[in-house]
Amino acid sequence: MSKEKYNFQCTQCGDCCRRPGVVEFDAEDFAALLTFLDIDRRSFIEKYYSTEDESSVLLWVEEGRPCPFLVDNRCSVFEVRPKQCRTYPFWAELLDKGAWKEEAHDCPGIGQGPSYTKTEIEEIRDNNKATK
Ligand code: SF4
Ligand code: SF4
Repeated sequence: MSKEKYNFQCTQCGDCCRRPGVVEFDAEDFAALLTFLDIDRRSFIEKYYSTEDESSVLLWVEEGRPCPFLVDNRCSVFEVRPKQCRTYPFWAELLDKGAWKEEAHDCPGIGQGPSYTKTEIEEIRDNNKATK
């Protein structure tokens, strides 16, 4: 079993909400978001220029255009933010020392705060517990 430790404490910088890419909502995430926003699926897709497939809804974040739910540098849908956001940066693909170190260039919380074993991180992530 790996004895490597991973330190993380979110600094609330909001950078991960501004980074170009995709914010993915699975069916469960999206249902909770629609209820929270009191909006129907079609209206949401149109309002937020998002795309959908059979299993998820994707919000596109581009350079200079952050996630639309970032308001005053805070997540305005924090209670129902999707698993992707809840569990960042404890993603499986980042639990490799090289990838973790590389990700620290984008996330100032990496390397700060308490340390976790890989097993602890997987337990947090797989139970969808919040990392921030
Ligand atoms: S997870 Fe990282 S990039 Fe995102 S707000 Fe926290 S410290 Fe900033
Ligand atoms: S849903 Fe919230 S936490 Fe996720 S990227 Fe958007 S603002 Fe950030």
